Amino acid sequence: MLKTIQILGCSSGLVSHRWKPQASCCSLSFISAVSTKPLSSSSSSSRSLPTTKDLVFPRPSTRRTRFGLFSMSSAHSGSNPGGPSSSSSSSLSSSTVVVQSVGNARKINFCQWCGGTTKHEVPDGEEKIRAICTVCEKIAYENPKMVVGCLIEHDNMVLLCKRNIEPSFGLWTLPAGYLEIGESAAEGAIRETWEEACAEVEVVSPFAQLDIPLIGQTYVIFLARLKKAQFSPGPESSECRLFALDDIPFDSLAFSSMVVTLKLFAEDVKAGKLKFHYGTINKRPGTSPSDINAYTLDYHLQS
Ligand SMILES: [Zn+2]
Repeated sequence: MLKTIQILGCSSGLVSHRWKPQASCCSLSFISAVSTKPLSSSSSSSRSLPTTKDLVFPRPSTRRTRFGLFSMSSAHSGSNPGGPSSSSSSSLSSSTVVVQSVGNARKINFCQWCGGTTKHEVPDGEEKIRAICTVCEKIAYENPKMVVGCLIEHDNMVLLCKRNIEPSFGLWTLPAGYLEIGESAAEGAIRETWEEACAEVEVVSPFAQLDIPLIGQTYVIFLARLKKAQFSPGPESSECRLFALDDIPFDSLAFSSMVVTLKLFAEDVKAGKLKFHYGTINKRPGTSPSDINAYTLDYHLQS
């Protein structure tokens, strides 16, 4: 089981922090309205890799963050990436969603604070086994990680990056990666976009929160637009390209979360209204961990 989880983890959007410039590229400006209007710029890709001194970073905005209000409904999506055999799962109600967990306290043998050895017990008042330090008595809680990214629309196309690192080397993804301590989700999404696509973006609105309980990850994807019609692959990407919705390489996407996100986006665009989506991505039992289409989108809520 553990091995399976580890394999899934490798196919789920983990992005290593190899090249993380601490430049001031995390300044933000927000626009509350959701829009499908294409940007006015007609330029497309700029493949030359800019040097740091060539880059102009976004300036801080004094505008207040103001996301549009939305009401949640429990309508299920027809965009289940898992295909026909997942129909039974997609009919789950909120009360029947199966919650899976990736945590394994027994693998934590040393305290992260003092280095002392741990014992594995259920603390008083709790229900799960935790790793508890035998020296300082601190409890090592395991919590999900947040992956943040941007879905960038430009000239009725979306920007994808071909991964130049494992896992999923050579496959396409939205620019996304782990949220860092000290930054907001939107800041992290902008930073990841800068690092992976050398693109300055402005966050437009939240688009999707996708939980993957099996591997302890939550994806938060923002709609964004290019501040300048320029992008080029960063160190973690071998190529960055704009794709028309009909040309998105669904057979060559890196992660199931990207399949779900891009399918939801394409559906929304075709319906003429972008929504906010929440959903849980669950692995279909008995399918290969590496099959990014072997998932169901459960408990799909949308504005
Ligand atoms: Zn300790």
